[in-house]
Amino acid sequence: MKIAMVGAGYVGLVTGSCFADSGNEVWCVDIDQAKIEKLTRGEIPIFEPGLAEMVLRNVEMGRLHFTTDLAQAVGRAEIVYLAVGTPQANDGSADLSALWSVVAGLAEHLPSTAITVVKSTVPVGTNAKVYERLRELTDRDCEVASNPEFLKEGAAIDDFTEPDRVVVGVRSRRAAEVLEQLYRPFLEPDRPFLTMSPESAELTKYVANALLSTKISFINEMANLCERMEGDINEVRRGIGHDQRIGFAFLSPGVGYGGSCFPKDVRALACMAEEHGLEPRILRAVDEVNSQQKHVLTDKVEQHFGDNLLGRTLAIWGLAFKPQTDDIREAPALVMIDRLLARGVNLRVFDPEALANVRAIYGDKLFYAATAMEALVDADGLAINTEWSEFRQVQFEMVKAKLKTPLVFDGRNIYEPDQMRRHGFTYYSIGRLPRGVRGRRGAVEPALLPLQK
Ligand code: NAD
Repeated sequence: MKIAMVGAGYVGLVTGSCFADSGNEVWCVDIDQAKIEKLTRGEIPIFEPGLAEMVLRNVEMGRLHFTTDLAQAVGRAEIVYLAVGTPQANDGSADLSALWSVVAGLAEHLPSTAITVVKSTVPVGTNAKVYERLRELTDRDCEVASNPEFLKEGAAIDDFTEPDRVVVGVRSRRAAEVLEQLYRPFLEPDRPFLTMSPESAELTKYVANALLSTKISFINEMANLCERMEGDINEVRRGIGHDQRIGFAFLSPGVGYGGSCFPKDVRALACMAEEHGLEPRILRAVDEVNSQQKHVLTDKVEQHFGDNLLGRTLAIWGLAFKPQTDDIREAPALVMIDRLLARGVNLRVFDPEALANVRAIYGDKLFYAATAMEALVDADGLAINTEWSEFRQVQFEMVKAKLKTPLVFDGRNIYEPDQMRRHGFTYYSIGRLPRGVRGRRGAVEPALLPLQK
């Protein structure tokens, strides 16, 4: 099939490449000329495992093309995907200006039988509005479907090619059939193709993200409670996770969720609820808990140093909002950087992929280390914001030797308190007591400490 993908960002580029890889002819179009020039030169503007190889392979095979010319991309398309950004507007709702600008530009080039598919995450009712707008502009009925995307950055290609499910909101059997054919290479009996109304499809995306965010804020609140009550959230997590009604997914304590989706989608759904006369109490609480959680690790740093923070040097490992991506949108590390810079702390930062994006914001206010070990040199402590695997298997003796003081603030609980105590670190984590001390109520014999995750 001939596909136009409007918006060549994280979602558009991954989706477009995966569709090309399954044999379709895909034209990715973007208004960002620099991005399209890079892609045309064979440079991939984002870090996503496996993406570069897939893009290059399909460009070489003549199935994947890049352009800034909407007419060129759309003119012969059977399916036109809209994958532009829908960031947060000032009032917390979704800003659809990019989407409407594309719809306006699209109409004059849209082939009469083409199906327009909204992949961007958009408020409920947007599909119907796109349909109305295109009808006004083209003076004919246009097929408009919704196909929300559930991929995770960092595992985007696997998520796209082996989806848990594909959701499409359609008004006609034809649209359902065409989209099912497009997705057929990725479907299996246990990876169903689910058709529903456009409104339900739009809601499904928000409800999924809201529930995942709720799980994260819930476990973070429980982690904070554990600290106050001398419990250990990892032990509690094991205790609840084996309950089949609960499970382990998205119940890992940390420094809060970030990224381009959860924060804005929770707020946009809350705005939608309010517009419909419903008070979104859970959604507001999830957002508020998360905003506070992004401060928890910096609070620990401030408490540890007290009045002696000014002029200290801290190493920060992990800047991306999660591992395997260079995306720093709403990343918890940025909250830490802002607060510590304001307190006069020197920061030596390292991230395997996100340094360039961070440098674009902070310029020479930070020291950008080329390796994790370089970040530690002469630092008064280390703070970890992202659980990249390379941080998990470090040589603790080397870490200790590079740091001025053996002090670690672990915002992702990647180490065990007792292990850190044995190595001589002062160790703070989330929802567990510092330094491996097991509370006022007496130490637990090492033999009784759980070994398994
Ligand atoms: P992004 O910011 O990475 O990419 C959006 C792209 O759209 C940019 O390259 C931008 O230049 C382009 N664009 C903007 N206006 C345009 C126009 N008028 N014409 C052509 N291109 C235009 O955003 P993203 O992360 O890919 O997200 C896109 C949508 O998918 C959003 O609605 C988002 O909520 C949703 N989504 C994102 C993810 C994710 O993990 N990033 C996952 C699922 C859904």
